[in-house]
Amino acid sequence: PGKDVYAVAGNPITHSKSPLIHQRFAQQSQQKIHYGFLQPELDAFKKTADTFFSAGGKGMNVTVPFKLDAREFAHQLTPRAQLAGAVNTLYIQNAIIYGDNTDGAGLVRDLLVQGIALRGARILLLGAGGASRGVMGPLLEQAPKQLVIANRSADKANELVQLFGALATSHQVFLQSVALGDLEKSANTNTPFDLVINATAAGLTDESPISDAAASTIFTSKSFAYDMVYGKTTAFMRQALYRGARVSDGLGMLVEQAADAFLIWRGADCSQKIDPRAVLNELRSL
Ligand code: NDP
Repeated sequence: PGKDVYAVAGNPITHSKSPLIHQRFAQQSQQKIHYGFLQPELDAFKKTADTFFSAGGKGMNVTVPFKLDAREFAHQLTPRAQLAGAVNTLYIQNAIIYGDNTDGAGLVRDLLVQGIALRGARILLLGAGGASRGVMGPLLEQAPKQLVIANRSADKANELVQLFGALATSHQVFLQSVALGDLEKSANTNTPFDLVINATAAGLTDESPISDAAASTIFTSKSFAYDMVYGKTTAFMRQALYRGARVSDGLGMLVEQAADAFLIWRGADCSQKIDPRAVLNELRSL
């Protein structure tokens, strides 16, 4: 009673780490909130979200598979949610429900905190689904030298290049797409990348989207390999480790996107008080 109510919506959702993450941020910043989880039926996101906000809910995190439903549900989108084409954070202000997307900002902050230089870097982004689209804007804003998007179906990678072409030009980034198959064919002539991000769903089944041959040319000991999947050392990370590269899973991105959502809800004043890296360390120790 008296506490502002928040929730994460997804399906499945019971293993979500978001309630713990937000409870820790609330403790760190002495905010009294209630944070629960919601598991709408696959076709019932709107009904669940309507009920939640009508009952006074203040904000919602949205995860697989509802990020597009959340985009439809929001009355108004922030510019970065528009660019991302998906919404992972909803909040209500003066009876207007806003949709935002903090995934890309979360990834960028996790990379920067880990000491990865993005300005001037050569970046390879594997995958052209929702996760890739969500992080492209924030990555381009860091002004890397080059961003190559590689996807199984080249069409989807091309679409992203079209969509983000103007932003890339304004930050003087050389933006290209390539079919994963072509990356494999030219395995002998590929040049190494400073940062390779796996945003494909391949990690979930412990496959890597690239062959060992391609990995040998893409990674050097100076590369950094980032897998958006978290909680395990994936086949993709093992390929990079074998070539002496540094690696990270996506748990830091999860915590950092949650931190941004928390600050949207509870106010930027909390930013000095919350400690996402302490929360990340706690999650790693569980
Ligand atoms: P989508 O379904 O939108 O896209 C999946 C992408 O993976 C497509 O580009 C698809 O290629 C590619 N893909 C799937 N299987 C393979 C395979 N075996 N080999 C090569 N490519 C493959 O998913 P999302 O973009 O939403 O999510 C991608 C991953 O990112 C998920 O594992 C998700 O858990 C993770 N994620 C992590 C976050 C975090 O906070 N750490 C946040 C958001 C996502 P094609 O187009 O050719 O089918």
